[in-house]
Amino acid sequence: MILTFFLYLMNSITNSPIEQITFENQSFLIKRDDLLHKDFSGNKARKFYYYFINDFPNIETIISYGSNQSNAMYSLSVLCKLKNWKFIYYVDHIPSFLKENPQGNYRYAVENGMNIIEDKDFEKDNLHLQKNELFISEGGAVKEAQFGLKILANEITTFQKQNNIKNLKVFLPSGTGTTALFLQKYLNSKVLTCPCVGDNDYLKKQFLELESDEKLHPTIINTDKKYHFGKLYKENYLIWKKLKQQTNIEFDLLYDPIGMKTFLSLPKDKNFTYLYIHQGGLIGNETMVERYVYKYKNLI
Ligand SMILES: *Cc1c(COP(=O)(O)O)cnc(C)c1O
Repeated sequence: MILTFFLYLMNSITNSPIEQITFENQSFLIKRDDLLHKDFSGNKARKFYYYFINDFPNIETIISYGSNQSNAMYSLSVLCKLKNWKFIYYVDHIPSFLKENPQGNYRYAVENGMNIIEDKDFEKDNLHLQKNELFISEGGAVKEAQFGLKILANEITTFQKQNNIKNLKVFLPSGTGTTALFLQKYLNSKVLTCPCVGDNDYLKKQFLELESDEKLHPTIINTDKKYHFGKLYKENYLIWKKLKQQTNIEFDLLYDPIGMKTFLSLPKDKNFTYLYIHQGGLIGNETMVERYVYKYKNLI
């Protein structure tokens, strides 16, 4: 059972379709990484592919840290289940409501066997890692992520060649910036991105953590205003809903509304074809939609 799933994943993970869509009268390509696999999809599947595909004979436990509804947390729980690893995940805090009514990424990660530990003073440097433990930074911002992102870059390049697309620009919204950075490393086309967590300076710093040569960094596009990560914005919900109506594709509610707004506002060069990357994260929508419905009852 697990083995069949494993083999299926190995195949499906290394290819997702690219489709042409029209949104707000703009036509562009979309890379459907949301379709990789229901349980292991989006850019987290790409980022954790290295851990998925390689053998770690001495590793028994994965340790990570982040928010209590993180997409990375959920994907790591799937990875650990598949690899038969113990998964220890540190968070600042778990609201008692969530403990009593588990939902979304939190719920499914717990169901996958995650050991979640509340520690508001958590610091990686205070961990004394044992030989059988592996630490993965928040959001999968690790060098190993490039392994899977190189495969994504190659899929895009192959598509570009097969379809005789001369000039391509790739756009995706960033959190830690890991996905955008490694895509730029392995793509000849320009990679454009915008920050959804913090501002341009934060994103630049994140790039520098993984790559000191600024010439290899993606191009940062300004958002129309500063967004606080995870906060609810009426306009974000509305563009998300419009996206679904016009394209029949469900996007993520944390990154894509900001990403798509920024992408639409970008002046388009007629000599270029544009590709937007759908980075998955749909399980996280479960709790986001609920929060929106609760906050803006009349609007939804
Ligand atoms: C994690 C995530 C991102 C951000 O990816 P980074 O590599 O951290 O920039 C964007 N979109 C979705 C849906 C995600 O889950």
